[in-house]
Amino acid sequence: MRQLSFLRSPTTILIIAWVVYLIYQSSTPRLLLIPALPRPMVSAAAHLAAHFILASLIFTALARSRPGLLGGLKSALAALAIATLIGAFAEGLQSVLPDRSAQVSDVLFDVAGALSGIAAVAFLRIVRLPTRLIIAAIGSAMALVVVGTTVSTAVWNPAYPYVGDHWHNVYAISVCGVRQPSLPSAPGGVHSHGGELLHVHPRDSSEAGENATLSLVFKSSGGELTKSGMTMPWGASYSNGDLCPDGRAGELAVFVDGVRLEDPTTYVLGNRQTIIIMFRAIETRDQA
Ligand SMILES: [Zn+2]
Ligand SMILES: [Zn+2]
Repeated sequence: MRQLSFLRSPTTILIIAWVVYLIYQSSTPRLLLIPALPRPMVSAAAHLAAHFILASLIFTALARSRPGLLGGLKSALAALAIATLIGAFAEGLQSVLPDRSAQVSDVLFDVAGALSGIAAVAFLRIVRLPTRLIIAAIGSAMALVVVGTTVSTAVWNPAYPYVGDHWHNVYAISVCGVRQPSLPSAPGGVHSHGGELLHVHPRDSSEAGENATLSLVFKSSGGELTKSGMTMPWGASYSNGDLCPDGRAGELAVFVDGVRLEDPTTYVLGNRQTIIIMFRAIETRDQA
């Protein structure tokens, strides 16, 4: 009967709900993102908050039936161990998922969050806050985290650059097999600095998220990229069907990390990618 009443306790229900939620969050490819804050900082804060809540719930459940200092200490150690094991399991899960990666530092943030959660509950118990109020406080924190995470993942795509990011991509432009000069240094935050890289550091929402496109790079340098051709900042223009010097018709073809883009105009720049922009002679296979 004791086990049954344990299962009916609101704390146990909250613990189960939270573990299910954490495992779901660990397995989804969408990462929490708050633009303008460095991504590693957001990730660390998410790990801290997740395990603060987890350990404080487990500690609350265990400490209730173990009075005294020794009971509290045992409960704290058990809560820390269980929360750390769950964190390690989540990291293990991420190491086998293609879109996520496991990090030892994540587990350290888990442990730090768990320790703070246990310390917070221990303090509230010492000042004799009723357990139901402690549970209500943790429940409110859970609701806040769930709502915040849901809004963040609905609004922001973590694959896109936002204000606060500074990304770089290698790129090259060739026309009928001839390498073109780098795009000149141009104003804006999604642009060439004149060198071999495209710099992506959006300054405002007009350059961020889905607006940080390859088209924007051309536009800011005074050129233009369309689905079927490009105009260089120095005036030269190439459209599908135009002839290369060898007499063959050419076409625009843009590759990112070796994969040809369907529509280069809507391509949103990533980080550490290799972008090849070609106006190339169309292969004629039946040639002698
Ligand atoms: Zn720049
Ligand atoms: Zn840069």
